[in-house]
Amino acid sequence: MQKTIALVAHDHKKPDLIKWALSHKAELCKHKLVATGTTGGLLQKELNLDIHRFKSGPLGGDQQIGALIAEQKLDCLIFFWDPLNPAPHDPDVKALLRLCSVWNLPVACTTSTADMIVTSPLFIGDDYQRDIPDL
Ligand code: PGA
Repeated sequence: MQKTIALVAHDHKKPDLIKWALSHKAELCKHKLVATGTTGGLLQKELNLDIHRFKSGPLGGDQQIGALIAEQKLDCLIFFWDPLNPAPHDPDVKALLRLCSVWNLPVACTTSTADMIVTSPLFIGDDYQRDIPDL
């Protein structure tokens, strides 16, 4: 079953995300991919895959991805945020991570977690239904 996966990386983390995505291209290409603007442009170029690009993160892209989560239109978020450099849109970053917790969305903030998510039988198979809280 095709899932929708969002990919976001802060500037210093973009090389990590590109490297990670290249190493998982065979799995990623089976799914619908969305990304914030700059991240999406880089991934499109490096992976040669179709990626829906929202606005750049600081211009509202994080919030657009948050809206997908709230509307149950996203299945997974790969979000390599930068713990060592302040972001101008830090409130948006926090809001995005918060929505992942609100809606029990699988989210990876590190390459190791991202590796585990996309290789998990629960992710690859069709049977797993995550609990969506009845709020
Ligand atoms: P960007 O946004 O992909 O447009 O750089 C990422 C972010 O800062 O959330």
